[in-house]
Amino acid sequence: MAPPPSSEQPDAAAPGAGAISRVLIVMAMEKEAMPLVNKFKLVEAPARESIFPKGAPWTRFYGIYKDLHLDLVMPGKDAVFGVDSVGTVSAALVTYASIQALKPDLIINAGTAGGFKAKGASVKDVFLASDVAFHDRRIPIPVFDMYGIGARKTFAAPNILNELNFKLGKLSTGDSLDMSPQDEEAILSNDATIKDMEGAAVAYVADMFSTPAIFVKAVTDIVDGDKPTAEEFLNNLISVTAALDVAVTKLVDFICGKRISDL
Ligand code: SAH
Repeated sequence: MAPPPSSEQPDAAAPGAGAISRVLIVMAMEKEAMPLVNKFKLVEAPARESIFPKGAPWTRFYGIYKDLHLDLVMPGKDAVFGVDSVGTVSAALVTYASIQALKPDLIINAGTAGGFKAKGASVKDVFLASDVAFHDRRIPIPVFDMYGIGARKTFAAPNILNELNFKLGKLSTGDSLDMSPQDEEAILSNDATIKDMEGAAVAYVADMFSTPAIFVKAVTDIVDGDKPTAEEFLNNLISVTAALDVAVTKLVDFICGKRISDL
């Protein structure tokens, strides 16, 4: 379907009463996101109409898909290094600004992740995260330790799980692609099946503003396997991104016409 003529924020196309109307998709990397931008026929919001403050590199694509207003936001390119601004700080900032400006009914944080084969993950698996936590915020003082880990349950979506055949697992988030021995210990203690660099940060902001959030993560690399993570990640990125896009499309199709309580 064609995008709306401007980036104004009208009410949903023609939703049933109480149906989900506005969905915010938060993604970290352009390569992960562009197939979905094309699939949903989203258009980039021009800089002069940006909902974001001047100077922020965050990007937003938007459009109407079936009866949903979709906004897909990314943290954009680093001003100095020109690479995607992956990691928790940028993810939290763009999520915050997007919630304030767009007031989404639902957030989908979609992206790639490392998977642990000891916990049943394989390359190209698509997981929904049941829980998120951080693995690199060590504060060994009572109570601050738990604040640092920041473990929280995500919005439970039993019908999505039943209908769409995703795997379910816990997600652990940190600001490194590789894994130090200390990270490994924390990830084990978080009981995580998958590991990324944004999920728990998006969850923190979504919870702050009571916005339900779903975490869809496709496995690019096996952390407890024998291949170097960065190499495996880059080799699999394109094919796993295709699996992620199929999964997010199925998810968005499922959400159409539903209420939050139907998920
Ligand atoms: N060199 C890469 C950098 C990507 S960083 C590039 O092509 O630009 C990795 C991204 O993929 C992050 O957004 C992170 O959430 C996700 N990711 C994939 N595998 C991961 C892993 N094993 N550990 C942590 N994050 C991972």
